Amino acid sequence: MILYIGWIILELKYIHLNLTCMSQSKEIAISKSSVPKIAIIALAAIFVLGMFVVGFDQGHIFSVVFGEQAFDEMYIHELTHDMRHAAGFPCH
Ligand SMILES: [Zn+2]
Repeated sequence: MILYIGWIILELKYIHLNLTCMSQSKEIAISKSSVPKIAIIALAAIFVLGMFVVGFDQGHIFSVVFGEQAFDEMYIHELTHDMRHAAGFPCH
């Protein structure tokens, strides 16, 4: 009988200990962005370059290689002309 009561007391202490631990447990939420910053920077650079090519280039990019002749020929402007109008950029 004494052993049985001792076992019950131990069991109650175990339950109390578990309840105490459960009530003191804290949820730790660590949120980390899954998109690396270098990817955001690279996509932003591609966006800016694409925006310039489609919307604003009047021979500037090819002028690095061809010089003043590129401003007369405007290859990229002619290539993206319809897209430029469709996107609403001013052209002519
Ligand atoms: Zn046009």
